Amino acid sequence: MASRKKARSEESLVNVAVIAAIREPLTYRVPKPLDVVPGQRVIVPLGNRKAMGVALEPVARIAEGLKPRDILRVVDPEPVLSPELLTLGLWIADYYMAPIGEVFRAMLPLGAETRHTRVVRLTEEGKRRLEEFKSSLLAEVREGEESAFLGYVKTHPTVTLETLRRKFAGSGRKLLTQALDMGWVTIHQVEREGRKTLAVSLAGQPPGASIPTPQRRPSAVAARILEALRAQRTVADHRALLRSTRGSLAHLRKLEQEGLIELAETRTNRSLKRNPEDALSQGEKDSHFAVPKKNGNVMQSPAEAAEIAEPSWELTASQSSALEMLGRQLEANKFSVFLLHGVTGSGKTEIYLRLAERCLDLGRSALLLVPEIALTPMLQAQFTERFGGRVAVLHSGLTEAQRRDEWWRVWRGEAQMVLGTRSAVFSPLENLGLVVVDEEHDGSYKQQETPRYHGRDVAIIRARLAKALVVLGSATPSLESYWNAQQGKYQLLTLNQRVAGRRLAEVEIIDMREEFRETHSKVPVSRQLQEEIELQLATGGQTMILLNRRGYAWFLLCRSCGEAITCIHCSISLTYHRREHRLICHYCGYATKVPTQCPACGSEHLYYIGEGTEKVEDKLRDLFPGAKVERLDRDVASRPGHYLRVLSDFRERKIDILVGTQLIAKGHDFPGVTLVGVVSADMGLRLPDFRAAERTFQLLTQAAGRAGRGDAPGRVLVQTFYPEHYAIRLAADQNYPGFFSKEMGFRRVMHYPPITALVNVIAQDEKLDQAARVAYQLGEFIKRIADPKKVRMLGPNAAPLARIEGRYRIQILLKASSRSILNQVVRYMTEECDRHHIPPRSVLIDVDPVNIM
Ligand SMILES: [Zn+2]
Ligand SMILES: [Zn+2]
Repeated sequence: MASRKKARSEESLVNVAVIAAIREPLTYRVPKPLDVVPGQRVIVPLGNRKAMGVALEPVARIAEGLKPRDILRVVDPEPVLSPELLTLGLWIADYYMAPIGEVFRAMLPLGAETRHTRVVRLTEEGKRRLEEFKSSLLAEVREGEESAFLGYVKTHPTVTLETLRRKFAGSGRKLLTQALDMGWVTIHQVEREGRKTLAVSLAGQPPGASIPTPQRRPSAVAARILEALRAQRTVADHRALLRSTRGSLAHLRKLEQEGLIELAETRTNRSLKRNPEDALSQGEKDSHFAVPKKNGNVMQSPAEAAEIAEPSWELTASQSSALEMLGRQLEANKFSVFLLHGVTGSGKTEIYLRLAERCLDLGRSALLLVPEIALTPMLQAQFTERFGGRVAVLHSGLTEAQRRDEWWRVWRGEAQMVLGTRSAVFSPLENLGLVVVDEEHDGSYKQQETPRYHGRDVAIIRARLAKALVVLGSATPSLESYWNAQQGKYQLLTLNQRVAGRRLAEVEIIDMREEFRETHSKVPVSRQLQEEIELQLATGGQTMILLNRRGYAWFLLCRSCGEAITCIHCSISLTYHRREHRLICHYCGYATKVPTQCPACGSEHLYYIGEGTEKVEDKLRDLFPGAKVERLDRDVASRPGHYLRVLSDFRERKIDILVGTQLIAKGHDFPGVTLVGVVSADMGLRLPDFRAAERTFQLLTQAAGRAGRGDAPGRVLVQTFYPEHYAIRLAADQNYPGFFSKEMGFRRVMHYPPITALVNVIAQDEKLDQAARVAYQLGEFIKRIADPKKVRMLGPNAAPLARIEGRYRIQILLKASSRSILNQVVRYMTEECDRHHIPPRSVLIDVDPVNIM
């Protein structure tokens, strides 16, 4: 008895965040001779499979009667996550109510899953059965589904379960179950082969020679691949190319056969020593752009390179004093947050660069977060120019291998400066001294899938753990940040002047109601905007036209029954894209042919309603036949070569008019732009979201900020049907403080953030009644436990987007003036879910939502 007790106390136990949708850590035993340190990845048994996890703190005791299972293997020789990052992960799981394993999965770009895959193989019995089918006298047996299924497995001896399901969609599950029951096939767990990387280049010609053109007209995908290669010549990793061109390996093989491209296997030099699990990573889904790289440097056009080489501006007085203030804070080595509110063109980037330089000189590391890096090649170029190999770039446009390489470079301390998007906040930087969040108001910092963290807010927590300085920069700060500054939580620094003595652009509002009364024309470009574009063309100025909808028409409407054609998976109308001649869902990507008849009533009276970027582009070409018109939106950005070329052509003034979505309003610096026209500026105002006015104000201010960045002054024309709306009026005056106080009044009356804390709970299911049942149950539970004076509940109601990707969504909005009370209520609610075996994926919890659609 005594000896058993002793053996027990010698047992070492450790909590593990298992990479799975499990809310809490699980406790495992560390068998001898294993030694586990917090932050190491481990392989553990989970149910009847193996899973990866991150080791957390040791556990002294476990509840009587529970028998912890043994850790199977330790993956990393040294911890991959520092104590600081472990603490950060635990904070995220707690604050955002996210399953802890999902948090660590998001933090590690290393491929958290084991790289096993399930392969289906034919048994002897299966082979015999296939022979019987094949020799049957009945054609329906010989050519039947079962025969085809077994035949496919026979000819594809390494086919995976997933491929088979895809291949035999519909009947696949039934066929597989039957084949397994009858013992015709077995499933084997095998190690996945290390994936090959192929370098892709245009065929055979020396650089500069003419490029072979295909004999026949290439398919749309093939054309995109060739176009991307013409811009880049060689792509080192075929997966980047396939992602950006939406192609497959088969397309590449076909082009190779046709002699148009060449494929070569490459052996990338990965840091395998420290990275034994060479598995797939979970990429971010926020954007799908790849920026081509050459020898680690960002591709630049000669004009861009020349511009970077220019000596930087002499600092304005407000730049200098801001920099001095921030520099002192940096040296003080303590946590503090500054909100740098600088008008567009006031030179915030230069402050970041100098501050980062000083931080590195002090022997500390620096992190700079930006919303969408692949879209701002200039910024990347500036940082690589200034910091060379000391800067690592982390964003979703990189291939998995590139991301991993960069991550390990940071981990080994080779790079002390990280420039990246949202998830770069988890970079394994040691001794962090400075965190900059540029365009801190941007909604893309909020992750829209579990864990639903806000990159800016996590950055602040991380800086607090590291005792680092935080700089939040924006020309249009979020209400949250400006409010925090007013409350004294952050310190406010203001840059009121543009660099080089430039003035802010003049903004004029055009009332489109009046325009329509006078012209009865449906042309989206008003007479005044046309005249001013004409003037720019005559005087050599460049024009940007912004509107917030890509595609050709907003939707296709049936005049007989009044129905718009909607997505089959989402409750949203499909957008017409004329170049592809398809209707596309902007939520789930579903695309379909344009019907000739209304699917609801069969009528042929279908009409296109509203104008998107494609249509305005066409219209401008009609109106100004002599001008060079180009378009930049997400559709264009999915072709990286083309995207970068449009950007550099516009910068080199080879384009007169650039039409685009908010992509063109973000951060770019085009000195030749003297006119910005905003078409349907008010579209966002009609959305049922409490941030609608804030977003409209931000968009218009940012758009106006693109004009007059060179020596000539800029002009901005804003077309709207709501000229008296305060978001539009105050954006036209570029009056941020005015907007802030007006909007805060609305938030106060309506009890919305930043006055209150907000959590959005969405029950979702493929079946509407199931989603409704769960939402009702949770609503009743909250009513029981929460004090209605302290926690306000709106709902359960159908979410504004009542169905997305085939799932119905019922929403409960919870507001409270005390965040700790609100979070406690939601925590009790998750425990209630666990008691009733409601899985985490059925209940989305969005803490501090930026989007309540
Ligand atoms: Zn109809
Ligand atoms: Zn959809």
